[in-house]
Amino acid sequence: MNKPILTIVVPCYNEEAVLTETVSRLRDTLERACRDQLISPQSTLLFVDDGSRDRTWTVIKHSIEDYKEVTGLKLSRNFGHQNALIAGMETANPYSDCVITIDADLQDDVNAINNFLIKYHEGFDVVYGVRNKRETDTFFKRNTALLFYKVMERLGVKMIPNHADFRLLSRRVLDEFVNYHEENVFLRGMIPLLGFKSTEVYYNRAERFAGKTKYPLKKMINFAIDGITSFSIVPIRMVTVLGGTVVGVGFLIGLYALIQHVLGHAVSGWTSMILSIWLIGGMQLTAIGVIGEYIGKIFKETKHRPRYTIEKQLVSATTKDRFKT
Ligand code: UDP
Ligand code: MG
Repeated sequence: MNKPILTIVVPCYNEEAVLTETVSRLRDTLERACRDQLISPQSTLLFVDDGSRDRTWTVIKHSIEDYKEVTGLKLSRNFGHQNALIAGMETANPYSDCVITIDADLQDDVNAINNFLIKYHEGFDVVYGVRNKRETDTFFKRNTALLFYKVMERLGVKMIPNHADFRLLSRRVLDEFVNYHEENVFLRGMIPLLGFKSTEVYYNRAERFAGKTKYPLKKMINFAIDGITSFSIVPIRMVTVLGGTVVGVGFLIGLYALIQHVLGHAVSGWTSMILSIWLIGGMQLTAIGVIGEYIGKIFKETKHRPRYTIEKQLVSATTKDRFKT
């Protein structure tokens, strides 16, 4: 069996409280996978510091000095979880046969990684980590998440329920992924779009090992709106449909007003007012909807800003020759 070089990408934002433990557990995971002949000994961990304001980068730097399999990427500011993941995936791709992304807070079960790799060896290009139960989440988070999946499904966006950003991607998938240039990224919606043979591995999600969530309610709402608007123009289309409906109702009311007029029941001037209010209002809404459709399309196409900026890349002295930094 030929052994793939694996890179585990870990986005970190203000994670000093948990990072030492994360490094240690992921190193154990790599070692075990190596022992089980699942990966090459050249496999690495890549910690992406997403503009942290605490000692996260210092912890990463020390780990790089201590362990040859640890590497680090420092972004120039906070670009957000999704962009930090992409920075890691794109950096790792040239020297990896597959990449696994995992959060820094140890909520995702590192033991599932071996199962991801087994699936990779069975020929799967994408392996999604799916949570068995969500009992460690609050009632609120569980239900808002459920609602979000329902809405996305209705809008026609393919997503794996209860899958966060814990997944394995083969190099083939990563090579395809770099062709997707949209600025508003939502990986959970994008990866299924890429296609390829995929499967799921179930795991139990734990409580955060230490530190606080970096997804307060406001960020969660923004995340959901981004997810919907970058993948769907249904909200804009709804304006068009609403406009059309108002035009329809306007015709009926106009007809009613005309009949009243013919029968001589109407106050003079009332008929023409009712007619114009409803018809023009409806037509305006339709027009806004149509314009919106086009703006929505342009909006999707025009963004060419870089998704992240790398300030520094660090690898240990012994591994340096493998990287073109
Ligand atoms: N994260 C990041 N940039 C951000 C916010 C979060 O890189 O702007 C990282 C964070 O360090 C963690 C992962 O994304 O490794 C998921 O965040 P968190 O665990 O706080 O989210 P939750 O599990 O509470 O949804
Ligand atoms: Mg978490």
